[in-house]
Amino acid sequence: MTLLSVEEVWTTFKAPGGRGLRRREIQAVAGVDLTVTAGETVGLVGESGSGKSTLARTIVGLERARRGRITFDGADVTRGWPRGLRRNVQMVFQDPRSSLNPRMRIGDIVAEGLRAQRGSASDDVAKLLEQVGVDPALAGRRPAELSGGQCQRVAIARALALRPRLLVCDEAVSALDVSVQAQILALLADLRTELGLTMLFISHDLGVVRQLADRVAVMYRGRIVEQGPAEQVYEEPSHEYTRSLLASALELD
Ligand code: ADP
Ligand code: MG
Repeated sequence: MTLLSVEEVWTTFKAPGGRGLRRREIQAVAGVDLTVTAGETVGLVGESGSGKSTLARTIVGLERARRGRITFDGADVTRGWPRGLRRNVQMVFQDPRSSLNPRMRIGDIVAEGLRAQRGSASDDVAKLLEQVGVDPALAGRRPAELSGGQCQRVAIARALALRPRLLVCDEAVSALDVSVQAQILALLADLRTELGLTMLFISHDLGVVRQLADRVAVMYRGRIVEQGPAEQVYEEPSHEYTRSLLASALELD
Protein backbone atom coordinates (compact mmCIF):
# COMPACT_ATOMS: atom_id res chain seq x y z
CA MET A 1 0.00 0.00 0.00
CA THR A 2 1.35 3.43 -0.94
CA LEU A 3 1.51 5.48 2.26
CA LEU A 4 3.18 8.60 0.89
CA SER A 5 3.11 9.80 -2.65
CA VAL A 6 5.01 12.82 -3.94
CA GLU A 7 4.19 13.79 -7.51
CA GLU A 8 6.05 16.40 -9.54
CA VAL A 9 6.69 18.54 -6.47
CA TRP A 10 8.52 21.85 -6.74
CA THR A 11 9.66 23.99 -3.80
CA THR A 12 11.39 27.28 -4.50
CA PHE A 13 13.07 29.97 -2.43
CA LYS A 14 13.99 33.53 -3.21
CA ALA A 15 17.74 33.73 -3.36
CA PRO A 16 19.28 36.06 -0.79
CA GLY A 17 20.75 39.28 -2.17
CA GLY A 18 19.67 40.80 -5.47
CA ARG A 19 16.86 43.31 -5.58
CA GLY A 20 13.09 43.28 -5.64
CA LEU A 21 11.52 41.45 -8.53
CA ARG A 22 14.87 40.58 -9.98
CA ARG A 23 15.73 38.27 -7.13
CA ARG A 24 16.70 34.90 -8.49
CA GLU A 25 14.77 31.83 -7.44
CA ILE A 26 16.39 28.74 -6.04
CA GLN A 27 14.60 25.62 -7.12
CA ALA A 28 15.50 23.53 -4.10
CA VAL A 29 13.07 20.77 -5.09
CA ALA A 30 12.55 20.60 -8.83
CA GLY A 31 9.89 18.15 -9.91
CA VAL A 32 10.32 15.28 -7.50
CA ASP A 33 8.40 12.00 -7.71
CA LEU A 34 8.72 9.67 -4.77
CA THR A 35 6.54 7.02 -3.21
CA VAL A 36 6.90 5.32 0.14
CA THR A 37 5.09 2.05 0.70
CA ALA A 38 3.78 1.15 4.15
CA GLY A 39 6.41 -0.75 6.14
CA GLU A 40 9.42 0.11 4.01
CA THR A 41 12.39 2.36 4.68
CA VAL A 42 13.28 4.65 1.83
CA GLY A 43 16.73 6.16 1.95
CA LEU A 44 17.23 9.59 0.42
CA VAL A 45 20.86 10.42 -0.36
CA GLY A 46 22.64 13.26 -2.07
CA GLU A 47 25.34 15.78 -1.35
CA SER A 48 24.75 18.80 0.85
CA GLY A 49 22.53 21.35 -0.87
CA SER A 50 20.82 18.84 -3.16
CA GLY A 51 17.40 19.58 -1.65
CA LYS A 52 16.87 16.65 0.72
CA SER A 53 15.84 18.71 3.74
CA THR A 54 13.61 20.95 1.67
CA LEU A 55 11.86 17.90 0.28
CA ALA A 56 11.39 16.51 3.81
CA ARG A 57 10.12 19.85 5.09
CA THR A 58 7.74 20.12 2.16
CA ILE A 59 6.37 16.65 2.85
CA VAL A 60 5.64 17.38 6.52
CA GLY A 61 4.24 20.84 5.73
CA LEU A 62 7.04 23.07 7.03
CA GLU A 63 7.51 24.41 3.49
CA ARG A 64 4.84 24.84 0.89
CA ALA A 65 5.11 23.14 -2.50
CA ARG A 66 4.91 25.56 -5.37
CA ARG A 67 3.65 22.89 -7.71
CA GLY A 68 2.78 19.21 -7.60
CA ARG A 69 0.86 16.98 -5.27
CA ILE A 70 1.55 15.16 -2.02
CA THR A 71 -0.79 12.53 -0.65
CA PHE A 72 -0.68 10.58 2.59
CA ASP A 73 -2.75 7.43 2.78
CA GLY A 74 -4.75 8.82 -0.12
CA ALA A 75 -5.47 12.21 1.50
CA ASP A 76 -4.19 15.33 -0.25
CA VAL A 77 -1.75 17.11 2.10
CA THR A 78 -0.12 19.38 -0.47
CA ARG A 79 -1.62 22.54 1.03
CA GLY A 80 -1.11 21.40 4.59
CA TRP A 81 -1.98 18.45 6.75
CA PRO A 82 -5.48 18.29 8.15
CA ARG A 83 -5.37 18.50 11.94
CA GLY A 84 -6.34 14.91 12.51
CA LEU A 85 -3.70 13.58 10.15
CA ARG A 86 -0.66 15.62 11.12
CA ARG A 87 0.48 13.45 14.03
CA ASN A 88 0.90 10.56 11.60
CA VAL A 89 4.14 12.03 10.31
CA GLN A 90 6.92 12.92 12.72
CA MET A 91 10.43 14.15 12.11
CA VAL A 92 13.75 13.55 13.78
CA PHE A 93 16.37 16.20 13.02
CA GLN A 94 20.13 16.34 12.86
CA ASP A 95 20.99 18.20 16.03
CA PRO A 96 19.23 16.55 18.97
CA ARG A 97 20.25 19.25 21.41
CA SER A 98 18.79 22.15 19.50
CA SER A 99 15.61 20.21 18.65
CA LEU A 100 14.88 19.61 22.34
CA ASN A 101 13.75 22.45 24.58
CA PRO A 102 16.75 22.95 26.91
CA ARG A 103 14.54 24.11 29.78
CA MET A 104 12.36 21.03 29.83
CA ARG A 105 12.98 17.77 31.62
CA ILE A 106 13.22 14.91 29.18
CA GLY A 107 10.30 13.11 30.78
CA ASP A 108 8.13 16.16 30.09
CA ILE A 109 9.42 16.40 26.52
CA VAL A 110 8.18 12.87 25.88
CA ALA A 111 4.98 13.41 27.90
CA GLU A 112 4.09 16.38 25.73
CA GLY A 113 3.80 14.08 22.75
CA LEU A 114 1.73 11.63 24.77
CA ARG A 115 -0.65 14.36 25.93
CA ALA A 116 -1.23 15.41 22.36
CA GLN A 117 -2.05 11.81 21.55
CA ARG A 118 -4.29 10.88 24.51
CA GLY A 119 -4.20 11.45 28.28
CA SER A 120 -0.67 11.11 29.57
CA ALA A 121 0.47 8.57 32.11
CA SER A 122 3.91 8.54 33.65
CA ASP A 123 4.30 4.81 33.01
CA ASP A 124 3.89 5.54 29.30
CA VAL A 125 6.81 7.97 29.50
CA ALA A 126 8.91 5.33 31.22
CA LYS A 127 7.89 2.76 28.63
CA LEU A 128 8.85 5.06 25.76
CA LEU A 129 12.19 5.96 27.31
CA GLU A 130 12.89 2.28 27.84
CA GLN A 131 11.91 1.54 24.27
CA VAL A 132 14.59 3.92 22.99
CA GLY A 133 17.20 2.73 25.47
CA VAL A 134 17.16 5.62 27.92
CA ASP A 135 17.00 4.78 31.62
CA PRO A 136 13.62 6.10 32.85
CA ALA A 137 15.45 7.20 36.01
CA LEU A 138 16.85 10.02 33.85
CA ALA A 139 13.38 11.47 33.18
CA GLY A 140 14.08 14.40 35.50
CA ARG A 141 17.23 15.46 33.63
CA ARG A 142 17.44 18.24 31.10
CA PRO A 143 18.93 17.79 27.60
CA ALA A 144 22.24 19.44 28.52
CA GLU A 145 22.79 16.74 31.12
CA LEU A 146 22.56 13.98 28.50
CA SER A 147 24.97 12.88 25.79
CA GLY A 148 24.23 13.64 22.13
CA GLY A 149 23.22 10.03 21.54
CA GLN A 150 20.87 10.02 24.54
CA CYS A 151 19.33 13.29 23.33
CA GLN A 152 18.68 11.74 19.93
CA ARG A 153 17.03 8.77 21.64
CA VAL A 154 14.78 11.21 23.49
CA ALA A 155 13.93 12.98 20.23
CA ILE A 156 12.99 9.60 18.77
CA ALA A 157 10.85 8.79 21.84
CA ARG A 158 9.07 12.12 21.51
CA ALA A 159 8.34 11.37 17.86
CA LEU A 160 7.12 7.87 18.67
CA ALA A 161 4.84 9.14 21.46
CA LEU A 162 2.48 10.34 18.76
CA ARG A 163 2.39 6.89 17.17
CA PRO A 164 3.28 8.18 13.73
CA ARG A 165 2.78 6.00 10.69
CA LEU A 166 5.69 7.71 8.93
CA LEU A 167 8.95 8.75 10.56
CA VAL A 168 11.11 11.19 8.62
CA CYS A 169 14.72 11.19 9.83
CA ASP A 170 16.72 14.08 8.41
CA GLU A 171 20.45 13.51 9.00
CA ALA A 172 19.39 12.00 12.33
CA VAL A 173 22.80 10.43 13.00
CA SER A 174 25.04 12.88 11.13
CA ALA A 175 26.05 14.88 14.20
CA LEU A 176 26.96 11.80 16.23
CA ASP A 177 30.24 9.93 16.68
CA VAL A 178 30.55 6.81 14.56
CA SER A 179 30.02 4.41 17.47
CA VAL A 180 26.94 6.31 18.64
CA GLN A 181 25.71 6.47 15.04
CA ALA A 182 25.78 2.68 14.92
CA GLN A 183 23.76 2.47 18.14
CA ILE A 184 21.07 4.84 16.89
CA LEU A 185 20.89 3.04 13.54
CA ALA A 186 20.46 -0.25 15.40
CA LEU A 187 17.73 1.34 17.52
CA LEU A 188 15.87 2.56 14.43
CA ALA A 189 16.17 -0.88 12.85
CA ASP A 190 14.75 -2.50 16.02
CA LEU A 191 11.90 0.00 16.25
CA ARG A 192 11.05 -0.59 12.64
CA THR A 193 10.71 -4.31 13.29
CA GLU A 194 8.84 -3.88 16.58
CA LEU A 195 6.44 -1.16 15.48
CA GLY A 196 6.28 -1.78 11.76
CA LEU A 197 7.43 1.80 11.21
CA THR A 198 7.60 3.29 7.76
CA MET A 199 10.62 5.54 7.35
CA LEU A 200 12.02 8.16 5.06
CA PHE A 201 15.65 8.15 6.10
CA ILE A 202 17.70 11.05 4.80
CA SER A 203 21.46 11.37 4.87
CA HIS A 204 24.33 12.71 2.81
CA ASP A 205 26.21 9.60 3.98
CA LEU A 206 25.74 6.66 1.64
CA GLY A 207 27.17 4.20 4.12
CA VAL A 208 24.65 5.18 6.78
CA VAL A 209 21.72 4.95 4.38
CA ARG A 210 22.82 1.54 3.19
CA GLN A 211 22.51 0.16 6.70
CA LEU A 212 18.81 0.90 6.91
CA ALA A 213 17.20 1.46 3.53
CA ASP A 214 15.15 -1.06 1.56
CA ARG A 215 14.96 1.34 -1.32
CA VAL A 216 17.19 4.30 -2.14
CA ALA A 217 16.50 7.52 -3.99
CA VAL A 218 19.42 9.66 -5.07
CA MET A 219 18.88 13.41 -5.15
CA TYR A 220 20.96 15.86 -7.13
CA ARG A 221 20.24 19.53 -7.69
CA GLY A 222 16.63 19.25 -6.61
CA ARG A 223 15.82 16.14 -8.62
CA ILE A 224 15.74 12.44 -7.96
CA VAL A 225 18.18 11.14 -10.52
CA GLU A 226 17.92 7.49 -9.61
CA GLN A 227 15.87 5.24 -7.36
CA GLY A 228 15.59 1.54 -6.82
CA PRO A 229 16.18 -1.33 -4.41
CA ALA A 230 19.16 -0.45 -2.20
CA GLU A 231 21.24 -3.34 -3.50
CA GLN A 232 20.73 -2.31 -7.08
CA VAL A 233 21.57 1.36 -6.50
CA TYR A 234 24.73 0.48 -4.60
CA GLU A 235 25.88 -2.42 -6.77
CA GLU A 236 24.80 -1.26 -10.21
CA PRO A 237 24.17 2.48 -10.10
CA SER A 238 22.66 3.64 -13.37
CA HIS A 239 23.30 7.37 -13.01
CA GLU A 240 26.68 9.01 -13.35
CA TYR A 241 26.04 11.10 -10.23
CA THR A 242 25.39 8.01 -8.11
CA ARG A 243 28.61 6.47 -9.40
CA SER A 244 30.61 9.56 -8.46
CA LEU A 245 28.97 9.68 -5.00
CA LEU A 246 29.87 6.04 -4.43
CA ALA A 247 33.41 6.61 -5.67
CA SER A 248 33.99 9.56 -3.36
CA ALA A 249 32.52 7.63 -0.43
CA LEU A 250 35.02 4.84 -1.13
CA GLU A 251 37.88 7.33 -1.22
CA LEU A 252 36.86 8.69 2.18
CA ASP A 253 37.00 5.16 3.59
P1 ADP B 1 20.23 19.35 1.67
O1 ADP B 1 19.32 19.02 2.80
O2 ADP B 1 20.28 18.28 0.62
O3 ADP B 1 21.60 19.73 2.13
P2 ADP B 1 18.61 21.75 1.42
O4 ADP B 1 17.23 21.29 1.15
O5 ADP B 1 18.94 22.17 2.79
O6 ADP B 1 19.63 20.61 0.91
O7 ADP B 1 18.95 22.96 0.44
C1 ADP B 1 18.67 22.90 -0.95
C2 ADP B 1 18.91 24.27 -1.54
O8 ADP B 1 17.91 25.17 -1.08
C3 ADP B 1 20.25 24.88 -1.18
O9 ADP B 1 20.70 25.62 -2.28
C4 ADP B 1 19.91 25.79 -0.02
O10 ADP B 1 20.80 26.84 0.07
C5 ADP B 1 18.52 26.26 -0.41
N1 ADP B 1 17.67 26.59 0.74
C6 ADP B 1 17.26 25.74 1.71
N2 ADP B 1 16.48 26.35 2.61
C7 ADP B 1 16.38 27.64 2.21
C8 ADP B 1 15.69 28.81 2.70
N3 ADP B 1 14.95 28.73 3.81
N4 ADP B 1 15.84 29.97 2.01
C9 ADP B 1 16.59 30.03 0.90
N5 ADP B 1 17.24 28.98 0.38
C10 ADP B 1 17.15 27.80 1.01
MG1 MG C 1 19.76 18.74 4.84
